[in-house]
Amino acid sequence: ATASANFAATSTSPLQIFVRAKKKINDIFQEIEEYVAETATFVEGLAKEKDGHLVTEKEVAAVSGFSAKVAGIKEVLARDHMKVAFFGRTSNGKSSVINAMLGDKILPAGIGHTTNCFLQVEGDDSLEPFLIAEGSTERQSVSEIGQLAHALCNNRLGDSTMVKIHWPKTRCQLLRDGVVFVDSPGIDVTESLDEWIDKHCLDADVFVLVCNAESTLMNTEKNFFHKVSQRLSKPNIFILQNRWDVAASEPEYLNEVRKQHMERSVEFLCSELGVVDQSQAEQRVFFVSAKEVLQQRLADSKGQPVTGMAEGFSSRYFEFQDFERKFEECISKTAVVTKFDQHALRGKTIANELQEVLSSIQQSATSERDAKCNEQRTLKQRLHHTERELDAVTAIMKEKIGYMVEDVERKVSTALNE
Ligand code: GDP
Repeated sequence: ATASANFAATSTSPLQIFVRAKKKINDIFQEIEEYVAETATFVEGLAKEKDGHLVTEKEVAAVSGFSAKVAGIKEVLARDHMKVAFFGRTSNGKSSVINAMLGDKILPAGIGHTTNCFLQVEGDDSLEPFLIAEGSTERQSVSEIGQLAHALCNNRLGDSTMVKIHWPKTRCQLLRDGVVFVDSPGIDVTESLDEWIDKHCLDADVFVLVCNAESTLMNTEKNFFHKVSQRLSKPNIFILQNRWDVAASEPEYLNEVRKQHMERSVEFLCSELGVVDQSQAEQRVFFVSAKEVLQQRLADSKGQPVTGMAEGFSSRYFEFQDFERKFEECISKTAVVTKFDQHALRGKTIANELQEVLSSIQQSATSERDAKCNEQRTLKQRLHHTERELDAVTAIMKEKIGYMVEDVERKVSTALNE
């Protein structure tokens, strides 16, 4: 039973791919930010010098624009997370699957608690959970699950609205690693599928379709994912055939039913949607019991044993863990690509543009130095020329004075003789 200890909690969790990449890219932007700040100080200093014609106003503005851009990227980066959205018909067990993955009864599940809006669960640094409704900034306390159900029942804003549940990160490793869970109202009870997709699906890294293994894949479920795959190229979709514990009560048909579900799910993913090929599709379909997993994990957290599980429980539990592992791998790799690729590109552009500004300043400085050198050279040449002229004039003068002296001497001696 303790083998059920949530392996997401170990450092080998594939979610670490995202966690480490986020840290690394954050460190890089930290460096870029310092570099940009240093450059800004330098460029502003140059502009203030009394003959600050080395930098143009445009260059000063460009550098301070980079500071704002880097700050903006850092802000988005801090909020970047891995988002998984759950869909399926009412009562197939969406809330139960999320609770099972989180290892706690966070979302109200069960008859009478039909979710009539989107619910997002995300990690928060605070020690007490709270919720914030769409369009509001007010934190509502939700220490009791009943309170949360009550708060949600009062939501009259429509089924496309979102209520965000901020759950203490300290209570759940998945939330600590940055996974955000989105639960949806049943796809059978809405007419706002397009609005749902626009508002809540376009930034999802992974979609989980929670089916009821007691029935076949319905057109309403298929139709929704057809719409999603028209908007997103190759969305990552996992199919959970939930309530598999119920099927266990009829073991004689178990293999046959499983085969049939598998065939239809695989056909849907690869032939109809074309999002994966045949061999990958089989790795996207799991036969599970969310209710059992949640029961087991709640008991584990209290250190109590669970009893009364239906036949085949451990293999269903194992299959749920297998789903979690593959889900974690998929979401963390996808989120790295979809989120950080863009940041990396923008970071590179900023570094290149910054370099261009600096080399243009360097060019101005070089040409100014060359101009000064030329000026000096001309001055030297002129001086040299003047010196030579002086020398020549001096020589002529000397000669002339020589003649004059001789002439004077001659005249004096003539006068004396006379
Ligand atoms: P949602 O409307 O899709 O969010 O479904 P819920 O999670 O609220 O589940 C509806 C009901 O089905 C609840 O009473 C759950 O306890 C029950 N349920 C959910 N998962 C399972 C399962 O795997 N096996 C069984 N037997 N019951 C389940």
